[in-house]
Amino acid sequence: MASTLAPRPTILVVEDEPHIRELVCLHLELEDLAYVQAAEGDAGLALARSQHFDLVILDLMLPGLDGVTVCRAIRRESMNTDVPVLMLTARREESDKVVGLDSGADDYLTKPFGVREMMARVRALLRRGAPAAQSPAVDASRPIVYRHIEVDPARRKVRVGERDVELTTNEFQLLYVLLANAGIVFSREALLNKVWKGEAFVTVRSVDTLVKRLRKKIEAAPGEPSVILTVWGAGYKAADVEDA
Ligand code: CA
Repeated sequence: MASTLAPRPTILVVEDEPHIRELVCLHLELEDLAYVQAAEGDAGLALARSQHFDLVILDLMLPGLDGVTVCRAIRRESMNTDVPVLMLTARREESDKVVGLDSGADDYLTKPFGVREMMARVRALLRRGAPAAQSPAVDASRPIVYRHIEVDPARRKVRVGERDVELTTNEFQLLYVLLANAGIVFSREALLNKVWKGEAFVTVRSVDTLVKRLRKKIEAAPGEPSVILTVWGAGYKAADVEDA
């Protein structure tokens, strides 16, 4: 168990397979992140009820309470109702099932996963959880540089490589939300709320249409997107970028 020095983000790791748990904890430690670990769902939930965490890494298949039950309980009543949750699942079908169950997790990682990918997700979720980044919006004037794409909310300008790209307000908002949270999966419902902000007469299909239009404007090959990826059964995300 690691110490929990105040300014370091602290992560709760709930995973019953010792070697995976140790691997995860080792890499958190290498990034100077504090962690607390549990090998069972019940123990993990007890910890989430007793102290604040900046992120929860939660295995799906656990002895005692399973990951979905633990996640829902954390969301319902604990000191961590808003904590980002990264769910670890064993197989593709399993993760699809979890998404279908609407477990309340923010992101999913299918085992076996690479450590670099896991840490990219962890960093992205911690950034999102940080107060300054809590609700990215166009009026947040922070410019984003994502690979060869520059997004400047203050001037509402988008540059892809050497060319300026004209986007509609909704296209711009969608691009901004995804790129500001690269690597994070957003459900269609979440994107509806973030882009259309409660407007009536829009449906989840509007999201698909908007994504299609946006891809035509910013992707080199809209049919094989490399920036805005479809996450089957879950929604959309901007492809992970390795932190420099
Ligand atoms: Ca397990």
